Amino acid sequence: MSDRQIVIVGSGPAGLTAALYAARANLKPLLIEGLEAGGQLMLTTMVDNWPGFRDGIMGPDLMAEMRAQAARFGTETLEGNVTAVDLRHRPFTLVMGDGRTITTEALVIATGASARWLEIGSDRKLSGHGVSTCATCDGYFFKGRPVAVVGGGDSAMEEAIYLTKFASKVTVVHRRDALRASKIMQEKAFANPKIDFIWDSEVADVKDVDKGEVTGIVVRHLKTGHLRELPLDGMFVAIGHTPNTSLFKGQIELDASGYIVSHHGTRTNVPGVFAAGDVQDRIYRQAVTAAGSGCMAAIDAERYLEGLPQDTSETRHTVA
Ligand code: NAP
Repeated sequence: MSDRQIVIVGSGPAGLTAALYAARANLKPLLIEGLEAGGQLMLTTMVDNWPGFRDGIMGPDLMAEMRAQAARFGTETLEGNVTAVDLRHRPFTLVMGDGRTITTEALVIATGASARWLEIGSDRKLSGHGVSTCATCDGYFFKGRPVAVVGGGDSAMEEAIYLTKFASKVTVVHRRDALRASKIMQEKAFANPKIDFIWDSEVADVKDVDKGEVTGIVVRHLKTGHLRELPLDGMFVAIGHTPNTSLFKGQIELDASGYIVSHHGTRTNVPGVFAAGDVQDRIYRQAVTAAGSGCMAAIDAERYLEGLPQDTSETRHTVA
């Protein structure tokens, strides 16, 4: 006998939409919030591409609405993080950070993805001391001061544009000579007089770890190898995300980059375990696609539960 019919891990758009649909299917879902409650939209400002809000909606407001909507239909929410799982047998077992265990017949993994860091060491060491992965969270601290943004995607452009509200100047450092960002974001960034670009370059070092604050960055031109130091007060890293799947490694199938492999909708290779949102999506990675896959996961889980024999436990296989 398991504690729950369905548990959803993760509380971004994928997890909360799965919870909404599971709750409306009368499955009384338990949603475990995870460390970054609300997911990546909590770190953003205006969301202009969520359908239904012609003037946009602030990311944290959108998540508050989703959460309230899931609760309205009976979703139970648990704060905290899952630290271990056993997916080899059904019911599946989840161990919480405080040692509690929860068993469930079906599991939806919606743990999302987290910001990536450079591999230079000094960026991590100065994290919270001038280096950040979240302009919305930390931009305010750089009023009237020069900063850099690393990356060439939509996130980097969004961060750079946002930072111009505070910073005296924003220098984007990108490793190629063309941006990956969408045309509209590129146009906005190019049109902003406070944004400069350094092309074909990488950040080789962030100064000054010994002082415990950012005084500048060392930029290496990738074609010439030329190094130069750029004095500034802050650096924002916006080079993409890594899926949050370390918890499941060895128990469900992951691809070479660590994304959960899903098939036939949201099914993983373990029957009864479903994946939704950025944790299984290396292509679209939008809030609205995450929500859509959360809906699919709840429907897939509901069908799976309907087909289960009563009061049986089955042995599942493990992925090496
Ligand atoms: P992304 O599209 O994967 O872009 C990552 C950027 O970082 C790329 O320009 C990449 O360079 C660079 N990069 C990766 N690793 C690097 C490294 N080690 N050192 C230096 N540079 C590195 O990621 P994203 O910008 O976070 O966007 C992810 C998804 O979310 C996309 O689908 C995007 O459209 C979406 N998004 C949308 C919005 C919006 O619509 N407003 C806002 C944010 C994100 P290369 O170009 O050379 O690969």
